[in-house]
Amino acid sequence: MTQLQTTLRQLRLSGLARTLEVRLQEAAASRLGHGEFLELILQDELNVRQQRQLDRRTKAAEFRALKTLDDFDWQFNPAIHRKEIFELAAGNYLREGKDVLFIGPPGIGKTHLAQALGYEAIKQGKDVLYRSIFDLVRDFLKDEAFKQQDKTLRRYLKPDLVIIDDMGLKALPKQSGEYLFEVVMRRYENRSTIMTSNRPLEDWGKLLNDVPTAGAILDRFLHHAITIAITGRSYRIKDSLPAAPEAKKIKKSNEPSTAGGAS
Ligand code: ADP
Ligand code: MG
Repeated sequence: MTQLQTTLRQLRLSGLARTLEVRLQEAAASRLGHGEFLELILQDELNVRQQRQLDRRTKAAEFRALKTLDDFDWQFNPAIHRKEIFELAAGNYLREGKDVLFIGPPGIGKTHLAQALGYEAIKQGKDVLYRSIFDLVRDFLKDEAFKQQDKTLRRYLKPDLVIIDDMGLKALPKQSGEYLFEVVMRRYENRSTIMTSNRPLEDWGKLLNDVPTAGAILDRFLHHAITIAITGRSYRIKDSLPAAPEAKKIKKSNEPSTAGGAS
């Protein structure tokens, strides 16, 4: 190992070290000035660092699968407006601490879009955590069982964006409402949360086995929420069904909670 390589290693400039050989040849061939050369190799280092950070954040988000807006077929369901989703992707809702709710039947892309928005947030330098509601409840139950003094709660409060997926897929264990309430209440007006549900909000009381808590959750969550209600047919079975009739889309914002009549 040359002295230069050792020095670069000591300075932890692995991105620069990786391209240095090529850059030196390039500099000689194109007679780059010292300033230009320095700019080039420092940019290499910066690129590698940014990529590493993106990878680290993506891993930490624990997405179910890496889904992006590029992978999304905007033609398939006219009820999903590309422009509206891209507006969200621009990230103003994150800066304003607003929440997002995707609601609609299974297979229409709620999980896909929620994760894709998560990935966009990561690209903007945000920390993201993706969990299904079942994972969330399990995390809190474990935390309680092992007396880990709110370790889990901190984990759910820290990220700039938390995605809570799959409300309504199955009934939830007792206490689920309390855990979800804790997360939603503490993130409220502070940090954004995206939730997805394939059941109407009126059913959340039943799902959580706790009508008042469901009402309290929705009251906070919906206060500044951007609701994307999607209808249409499942993408999963798109090839096995004839085309569905015209899909409809409603956008609600700042609507009061209607869950179980509680608040
Ligand atoms: P939901 O969460 O609404 O049940 P998903 O997001 O899990 O639905 O979508 C089901 C599958 O179909 C996923 O693999 C998803 O990537 C894919 N999918 C759904 N809608 C689209 C679409 N419009 N374009 C591309 N893939 C889609
Ligand atoms: Mg889903």
